Amino acid sequence: MSQAETRPRTMGQQETNMSLDTSHPGRPGPEELVPSRYAVRVGEIDVLVVSDGVLPLPTAMLGHNVEPAARAAWLKDMFLPPDAFDWALNVVVARSGGQTILIDAGLGLDPELNLPRAGQLVKRLEAAGIDLASVTDVVLTHMHMDHIGGLLVDGVKDRLRPDLRIHVAAAEVKFWEAPDFSHVSMPPGFPDALRAAAKRFTKEYQSQMRLFDEEYEVAPGVVVCRTGGHTPGHSVVRMASGGDRLMFAGDAVFAVGFEHPDWHNGFEHDPEEAARVRVRLLRELAETGGQLVATHLPFPSVGRVAVDGDDFRWVAAFWDY
Ligand SMILES: [Zn+2]
Repeated sequence: MSQAETRPRTMGQQETNMSLDTSHPGRPGPEELVPSRYAVRVGEIDVLVVSDGVLPLPTAMLGHNVEPAARAAWLKDMFLPPDAFDWALNVVVARSGGQTILIDAGLGLDPELNLPRAGQLVKRLEAAGIDLASVTDVVLTHMHMDHIGGLLVDGVKDRLRPDLRIHVAAAEVKFWEAPDFSHVSMPPGFPDALRAAAKRFTKEYQSQMRLFDEEYEVAPGVVVCRTGGHTPGHSVVRMASGGDRLMFAGDAVFAVGFEHPDWHNGFEHDPEEAARVRVRLLRELAETGGQLVATHLPFPSVGRVAVDGDDFRWVAAFWDY
């Protein structure tokens, strides 16, 4: 990377890359060309979707139980490249009843992973005026590294409140004591990296972790519910206030999951159960008309689900700004 790309001094018209440096100590620094945050109100609850960046993954991850030709056809229909495409990494900040709740934490910045376009969360929270010290609660949908890594970045723990509560399903913590990778289909190196990240997280944050079995109301109208499937302790967050609803579905729903909910995603530890969970949640969303946000749906990933028989359809929200 050239000097100009890593440390741009101006935001001239030629600056179209995403690596604009906003890390000026003591002040937020210049805005990124794309702020990568999107605000939604759910009754009394303020919801902010923040992008942690993107993660390029091989397209076989989309559905390892189907023929390559079926994947190729879907990718072509979606105008996506055939071999690898960028998965979004969406994180949510919710404010309710005086609490500030961070839901998942992005991938973090492990240089060994060589994923420089991810791990933007802390910088983007700062740009959104959200101080890490103001976060009262963290909710983890599960403990894959793309959901916990942001809290493992050097210096982050020191900036968090000592009385921070980290809510995670007891089944998730138990799973990572001896995780089963026999049903996944991940790129080489990922299982070891995932094991190591979960282990490190548990070690660093054990005293702050608050375990729940099935369901826990984190703040008024903000309820985390275990679904299992993707991982045994995978959970979604349902927010409801004043007749509005929004579900943060973590990794229960992927972009391909509306048309092909039965495709097994490569990161699912129990893919058959994950598919059942997906269909159940999509039916619930179609029935309630509530909004959906999920980690890996294209940013800002705010939309609704329509259903016609067994066919689901993603209906993106009209941008409201
Ligand atoms: Zn994920």
